[in-house]
Amino acid sequence: MIRFNCCDREYIVTDNSKILVHEHVFNLYHYSNRNLSIEYTLSLLENLASKGYDIIVDLTPYSKVWNYYEIIEKSPVNIISCVGFFTGKYLSFSEKNKDEKYFFNKMENQIKYGIGRKKIKPGIIKIATNSNSLLPYEKNIFSAAANISIIYGLPIAVHAPKSGINSFEYLVDKGVNPNKIMICHAESAIVSKTLDCINEIKLILQKGGFVQFSNFGTSNSKRRKIMINICQSIINSQFKNQLLLSNDFSWKWKNNVPIPKKNISNYLFIENEIIPDFLSVGINEEEVFTLMHRNPIIFLHYTKY
Ligand SMILES: [Zn+2]
Repeated sequence: MIRFNCCDREYIVTDNSKILVHEHVFNLYHYSNRNLSIEYTLSLLENLASKGYDIIVDLTPYSKVWNYYEIIEKSPVNIISCVGFFTGKYLSFSEKNKDEKYFFNKMENQIKYGIGRKKIKPGIIKIATNSNSLLPYEKNIFSAAANISIIYGLPIAVHAPKSGINSFEYLVDKGVNPNKIMICHAESAIVSKTLDCINEIKLILQKGGFVQFSNFGTSNSKRRKIMINICQSIINSQFKNQLLLSNDFSWKWKNNVPIPKKNISNYLFIENEIIPDFLSVGINEEEVFTLMHRNPIIFLHYTKY
């Protein structure tokens, strides 16, 4: 029996659990939009639940989870929240000068005692870099995350559009189980430098890590064709158990209206657009099941916490 710490409940995963591993539920909003934000987010989650999804992972480490209690309570989909740090613009100058221990303690406190009045326990670590090689403060954060993962068995989601392989190897060198690392935006360099990018993805897979794709471009675009091809070749290889798909859906508010980012309008882009594309090139239902059910459970499963 596999249990996950979802925000306000413990949830037992079933064989049919359908999981999105990289989304943004706790999007920032201005207080004047609070009710609108709750209503909009819940309508998206209800839509998602109607398609059989029962778990969504929020990877927004800079949001204060207590601003989303009502969403957490009413959500028909179980939400797994994260602990961690996003890129430099979300860190203060003084934080950038803190040592590894500081970042470790901050994360460990949230894991041990929970966050806010409801003592919400995170189920995943989120870290990030936008650089080609890790900056000194990023190394401190990555090392702290590595130790947390080793001690508590938690998986790590890495936002690394430029240095997927560097980030991955840094964490593995620190002792993290490669099977607990998900490199997000692994596909970001595709199209501009396709071959390098594919070699990096291969290397991560060969070393036992998970790669996660979100950006499939628009239908009929060059990117869409390349992405479907890459997925097909991973699925046909011995690495099909290391591929994860998620929408990375988020939005911001403008004049009281939610504006979705990245040209997708909800959490169902993969479900409604990409899976049909997969089926049309001969990827079968069983393989889709592996991507949307089995792989997320293997990646998210933690035992020591
Ligand atoms: Zn994201």
